[in-house]
Amino acid sequence: MNVDKNEPSHLTNSRSRLERAGTGRVAERAVDEITRYIESNGLVAGDKLPPERVFIDMLSVSRSSLREALRVLSTVGVIDVRHGDGMYVASVKPLHSAGKALFDATEQHALRNLVETRQGIEVAAVTAAVQRATDEDLASLQQMLEQQGTHLADDPDFVWEPLEFELAIVEMGGNSWLYDIELMLRDAWQTLSSGLRASVGRHTEWHAEHRAILASMRSRNITQAQRLVMAHLSLERFEQDLAFRTGARKERAQRSADSTIQ
Ligand SMILES: [Zn+2]
Repeated sequence: MNVDKNEPSHLTNSRSRLERAGTGRVAERAVDEITRYIESNGLVAGDKLPPERVFIDMLSVSRSSLREALRVLSTVGVIDVRHGDGMYVASVKPLHSAGKALFDATEQHALRNLVETRQGIEVAAVTAAVQRATDEDLASLQQMLEQQGTHLADDPDFVWEPLEFELAIVEMGGNSWLYDIELMLRDAWQTLSSGLRASVGRHTEWHAEHRAILASMRSRNITQAQRLVMAHLSLERFEQDLAFRTGARKERAQRSADSTIQ
């Protein structure tokens, strides 16, 4: 094959592919690169970040793509944009890549979309699990709940691995597609609920609900298990928790503003 060195068509091709990918992809890459910048420079919460124009040059992105990336990073709590002052690292946490691809926390109905998807997957999973789980499976789920119960009794702020109970049920259903989707949902859930879980303290309530779900599974009552899973995933309650978190954050910001004034 004859390669014409004067005609670097691969460059033209890759450029047009990039253009076709659009602002969303560019912003997504910028999110990754800014996160990597924070990590590789060992920045911690409270450290100031370079101004926008430095990132625009460094990442070769447009101002609008950068702004979109900064909005995402700010929504998930990685950076803190203080108008008229600059950008700061808010907390250092890896973005969960699968969850990020699936889930845009800035989307208007992010919480609703996530909860509805969890409902679909988890109702399907509990249906499969009631039919297929062995007695040993259910006994090990019982053991998990008992251990969590012991931790909760010692420490009301105890927080278990996100969706630990739900993932165990999905696994018992034996459907690997449901399991893979539930893992993505878990990552998306972590992105949305970081800071929410510990401050709201729903774990005692959730634990009681998990016990009821398990009881319905042990009696192999599919309809009851489905109903309890739906009640456990009440969108209304999640919305209250989200409002609570936003309120608590505003209160904290107000308190720190007050203490600066004093
Ligand atoms: Zn649960």
